[in-house]
Amino acid sequence: MGDIDLERYRDEAEEFTADLSREHYLHLAGRKPELEVEPIYERHRRLFEPAAVAAVREARDRASGEERRRLRFLAYFAVDGLIGMRTRLESEELARLEASLEVTVDGGAVGYRRVATRLANEPDADRRLQLAAARDEVLGERLNPIHLEAFERSREALRELGWRDPADAYAELRDLDLHALAARTQAVLAATEDRYESILDPELARAGAPPLGRLRRSDLPRFFRAAHLDGPFDGARMLPALTASLAGLGIDLVAQANVTVDADERPTKTPRAFCATPRVPEEVYLVLAPMGGRTDFEALFHESGHAQHYAHVDAELAFEYRHLGDNGVTESFAFLFEGLVADPGWLAAHVGAADPAPVLAHERAARLVMVRRYCAKLAYELELGAADPPLERMPARYREHLQAATRAEWPEVSWLDDVDSGFYVACYLRAWALEVHWRRALRERFGERWFESAEAGAWLRAAWREGQRLAAEELLAERLGEELDFRLLAAELSG
Ligand SMILES: [Zn+2]
Repeated sequence: MGDIDLERYRDEAEEFTADLSREHYLHLAGRKPELEVEPIYERHRRLFEPAAVAAVREARDRASGEERRRLRFLAYFAVDGLIGMRTRLESEELARLEASLEVTVDGGAVGYRRVATRLANEPDADRRLQLAAARDEVLGERLNPIHLEAFERSREALRELGWRDPADAYAELRDLDLHALAARTQAVLAATEDRYESILDPELARAGAPPLGRLRRSDLPRFFRAAHLDGPFDGARMLPALTASLAGLGIDLVAQANVTVDADERPTKTPRAFCATPRVPEEVYLVLAPMGGRTDFEALFHESGHAQHYAHVDAELAFEYRHLGDNGVTESFAFLFEGLVADPGWLAAHVGAADPAPVLAHERAARLVMVRRYCAKLAYELELGAADPPLERMPARYREHLQAATRAEWPEVSWLDDVDSGFYVACYLRAWALEVHWRRALRERFGERWFESAEAGAWLRAAWREGQRLAAEELLAERLGEELDFRLLAAELSG
């Protein structure tokens, strides 16, 4: 199939994207019990036939300039969809099992997906360990065989399309040198190594988690949860704080017709905030279940960063620039908004924390753990995504990487479950670095309380208008004339 009607392909791709995103919204918001992706793939199956995928890649290779850029994004979409198609049964089965399986501890039963919340709220470290061990047993016995099947099917699909291995495929599809990125993020690990213990240990103690040396992965949800900081982070204040913060930037959330805030209670609604974007910029959902606690505020602000980014994209842009492209961009704005929840001026204005120091100290320690964890994930995922990795060795390699970076005792069992598809890890890592550039520039231009400046809002909206036409590095060069510098992130985390 040499020829392809690209305009038709784009239209149908946009329809598929809308259907899939809306289905996820309805299911996760608790408005629809089943997640039914099979009929959506079935309806649009010709998008992901190998010949169609090959034709998009061929068209990309023939094109130049903006058309080539668009077709690069479309090629990623096509390959990603083909893999989604080939692994759709495994995805549905995993979702079904995760939603229905129960973990038995102390004679009681806990839903598989509820274990994370239970871990965050369990003050006793031994009980956390038991809970996590019971969940990990289910993961190892029931879910890992399906994860492995999906893993092998994806590799097979990429090989059929002519790639030696996934690392190679995604480096090309993302137009990113993943090994160069790994070298830069290994430098972040090295630069934050010396101060890791002195930053982390006091915060672990405050959150009721054991110190490094005795710390286990099962303690981390409790540490991130930071129940000792709950006081002012009241669930009833979440949405008003968001509305007021956006007003500070000149954005009227209530009047935004394209953003639906779904704060209704429903029994099967997922407890974590999320953003869904069936149509950009016309149909954006911000979904929350306002429970309160600092991490809930962070999650809501993170997702609001995505929602505002997508809601402000120029409707005239091509489908590829509105929906596809480098997610490092949208994640950077999500981190920027999330960061407000640890900004002294913002805390004083919106939460009324008397002394912001404990919040700031916890936020830095938590971000340090997360960034180091993702640095380790990239190194590991590159090993796993290489040609013919020794699969029997990979669970141990996973543990070694994660344990070295976090210095928490780490189980091997998540060696497939903890892998984001398509090296999304590269988006998060670059977004953490990019967010530091954004925040520094906003403070320099609009002052410490930039988030109360309508001019800062206008500046952000100008960046958001472009969608994800430009990659994170390109957008930074265009907006600030700077180069993405991971040393700024490392300095902020360990300074
Ligand atoms: Zn995000």
